[in-house]
Amino acid sequence: MGFLNEEEEKEYLRYKRMGLLECIDAHLIDLANGAIEVVCGDCDHQTDIYSHMNKVYRDHHDVQPDQSIDSRIHELKLNGGALLIPEKSPITHLGEDRVLIEHIRSAMRMKKIQTVVLFAHAPCGMAGMFGLTLTQNLDCLIEAKLRLKSELVGAKVVCFMHIARSDRERRTYFISAAKWRLLYPKRVRSDPPSTAAA
Ligand SMILES: [Zn+2]
Repeated sequence: MGFLNEEEEKEYLRYKRMGLLECIDAHLIDLANGAIEVVCGDCDHQTDIYSHMNKVYRDHHDVQPDQSIDSRIHELKLNGGALLIPEKSPITHLGEDRVLIEHIRSAMRMKKIQTVVLFAHAPCGMAGMFGLTLTQNLDCLIEAKLRLKSELVGAKVVCFMHIARSDRERRTYFISAAKWRLLYPKRVRSDPPSTAAA
């Protein structure tokens, strides 16, 4: 099971200091009717990611830890999660972007859910396999949000980043696309994989 490497740790601390990785305030997210969650299937981190998301949902509904509730979290899970969504994603050329966007669209219609929670996480095996830095990982997540906002009418899209620093320190953060784009007005360069290499 992996944790942030030295370089990622520096990037993480920088963004934390700058206030770009923020605590999640569940009451600022519209979870009244549930959420469509796009997340990486990483078996070493998904239990933790799911428990964070479940806590956000329960906090939003003011549910006490001893009370039971059926969370309306509609999960779409592929390796890399939200990082597959940007046009020319640096981690795929197989068309998962279109697949995910159309599945989000149909889930919005079927389940009457407008809120889409996009998850990225670090360290992510897929991001690592294609040499993405933490900055490129975060940038890809923001790009995914901007694409969904432009393609899915009425979607409310929020970005969460799960960071695993050690066994005892795993956190999920909210990241604002507006704040991120103030820092990086253009997409941070990360080349898509070439078709020939497949
Ligand atoms: Zn992953």
